[in-house]
Amino acid sequence: MKYTCKKCGESRFFYVTVSVAAKQRIDLKEGSRHGIVYDIEPENIDGFYEDVIYCGKCDEQVDMEEWEEYQF
Ligand SMILES: [Zn+2]
Repeated sequence: MKYTCKKCGESRFFYVTVSVAAKQRIDLKEGSRHGIVYDIEPENIDGFYEDVIYCGKCDEQVDMEEWEEYQF
């Protein structure tokens, strides 16, 4: 597997977006307000968005056609 980011030249670190379980506090002091997110559980991933891959260095979106080609 070999891919080079077209924007910054990164060839090692890339990432996909995931969703994890977490809590968001609701504050009732002045009406119901949703506040900070806490108790984030990185090991409890409930969604992977692998259709889009990003460069780990500059966040540029990977060209998925070229990415696919590199997989074989
Ligand atoms: Zn990049």
